[in-house]
Amino acid sequence: MTDAAHAVRTRAVADTTAPPENPALARVENLRITFDRDAGDSVSPVEDVSFEVRPGERLAVVGESGSGKSLTSLALMGLVDRVGGRIADHSQVEVLGVDMVRAPEPARRALRGGGIGMIFQDPLTSLDPVRSVGFQLGEAIELHRPALDKHETGKLAVDLLDQVRLPRPQALLASYPHELSGGMRQRVMIAIALAGDPDLLIADEPTTALDVTVQAQILDLVHDLCDERSLAVVLVTHDLGVVAGFADRVVTMYAGRIVEQGATEEVYAAPRHPYTDALMRSIPPLTHREPRLVAIPGSPPEPAHRPTGCAFHDRCGFAEEHVCTTERPPLTLVEGSSDARRVACLRLTEITFPLGAARATERAESTGPAGAADGSPLVSVRGLTKKFAIRSGGFGKREQLTAVDDVSLDIGRAEILGIVGESGSGKSTLARCLLRLIDPTSGRIEFDGRDLASMSARELRKQRPRMQMIFQDPSSSLNPRMTVRQTLLEPLKIHGRPADEQTLVGLLDSVKLPASALARYPHEFSGGQRQRIAIARAIALRPELLVCDEPVSALDVSVRSSLLNVLSDLRAEQGISLVFIAHDLAMVRFLCDRVGVMFRSRLVELNGNPEIYDAPVHPHTRALLAAQPIPDPDVERRRRTMRRDLLNEAGDPSTEGTRNVESA
Ligand code: SF4
Repeated sequence: MTDAAHAVRTRAVADTTAPPENPALARVENLRITFDRDAGDSVSPVEDVSFEVRPGERLAVVGESGSGKSLTSLALMGLVDRVGGRIADHSQVEVLGVDMVRAPEPARRALRGGGIGMIFQDPLTSLDPVRSVGFQLGEAIELHRPALDKHETGKLAVDLLDQVRLPRPQALLASYPHELSGGMRQRVMIAIALAGDPDLLIADEPTTALDVTVQAQILDLVHDLCDERSLAVVLVTHDLGVVAGFADRVVTMYAGRIVEQGATEEVYAAPRHPYTDALMRSIPPLTHREPRLVAIPGSPPEPAHRPTGCAFHDRCGFAEEHVCTTERPPLTLVEGSSDARRVACLRLTEITFPLGAARATERAESTGPAGAADGSPLVSVRGLTKKFAIRSGGFGKREQLTAVDDVSLDIGRAEILGIVGESGSGKSTLARCLLRLIDPTSGRIEFDGRDLASMSARELRKQRPRMQMIFQDPSSSLNPRMTVRQTLLEPLKIHGRPADEQTLVGLLDSVKLPASALARYPHEFSGGQRQRIAIARAIALRPELLVCDEPVSALDVSVRSSLLNVLSDLRAEQGISLVFIAHDLAMVRFLCDRVGVMFRSRLVELNGNPEIYDAPVHPHTRALLAAQPIPDPDVERRRRTMRRDLLNEAGDPSTEGTRNVESA
């Protein structure tokens, strides 16, 4: 760090503590971010956003994709110009006394990584793959602590790795990012973020790419670091579940504006904006099985196509014609609430949400989605093992990686079987073996009484229409050059099935898409709609078995709910058997009749729903359940200690690998 930059940082920190009348560490006022478009016009994805971050405070900014939350966090870091955006003249963004809009770039740069620590979603893209952990951490320390000599820098690097609870920190300095698990890489990123001794940490979806157990560990770590260092955190996330146990205050954004803000306890106990309420109700509960999930209809509007009046009016169940469609609701102080609770809804004083009462009733009546399994197996798997030969070291040395180890299970007709586990536990390999997309090393897979493993390629092709797969990313499974009509017609034509208009419209109707979608291309749809198209194509041949590999993991929570309802309806209406692979146990509780838990390539527990939730036996099942966030701040506070003990008992998944390797 240069002397000038260091001076800015020192002055900035001093300034923030000086005026007692303004204790904010960061302040955003009337933020408007605009992008110029090729067509000559411009759009403003963020408008009129104002909030403060206080010292030591944990603030969560939540909303669906496209709500403007990540752009707002970029404004806090003074990086909007890097993504081609422009902040309006009347907007103010001040962090640690530095004007992040008008200050010269060196001053803003000095604050990034110094006063402001940053953690992003994917640590693999943030870390340099050809530099060791020690080099990257040392570089960050030298940049922001220029007074330290080489020895002190090395000592601090070890200390920082120790603070983020990484085992054997001294030895870890020589490791490269690809040698670490996802959780370890994110811990290294946090250590780098702490290198400048920041006062504010900005974490943009820091756990979205991680398993639920690792996510819990990382959030608990950041929570503890805040307490230990009096560090303020801005957590940007689409997942209201993770916010409950973490944040002191919540800001909900929709279509580029703040629609609700307040203390976490107050907002979670009684949300006052229909959007916040709908987001919370769309989270599947872990405690019981809902008959149906609440889904928010439609999707957030694009910045260039935001409706007039309240931007939420075309998705809001409380919208009133000629009121909500014409007037833009201002962010208003809620009377009788503490901590500057504000809501932007024109009908704020008129509407109440029957949240508590409705949930209690649903719980009492809950029997799970319709269409229980009839018990006779469609698929029977015995002793299934899959090994891969992998290269290890030089001179052609090879090892055997056992991805699936001696798995036996049955899948009933019209049954939904959930398979849960962490990344690398063998779930996806098991799914591919079930459909014989890859050949198992040993074991037997019977589909409707016939052994798939010993079938010839010709025989297997005949069976293909009876079993289909849905993948996590619909964009990569749909051809961008084919319209929806062509996408649906292709499998029907290949297998000589009727391909009339009525069939195509019926397929779209099964996944709740209108007939008008037939003429459009995949890029014209949202992520959730694209996944519906992928499901419609998968069911075109009326399969008896549908294997869904994390089909909703990449989607917003509101979109997930509607897709889970679609899958539940498919089983009820068409009697399809489903294998639903996920790492979210709350979604699995809603959808599945039985649940299998994979851990280190083995199926360690298989039981019915609710038995596996009410009386889990294996320590890893208990750890997964303890790590699943519950959208209730009181419950989450109590669970934190229990979770720590359970995750310790099961082994800390964020600091170890899960490979099951033997020498070849
Ligand atoms: Fe719904 Fe109207 Fe309130 Fe907007 S202003 S959230 S449309 S009730």
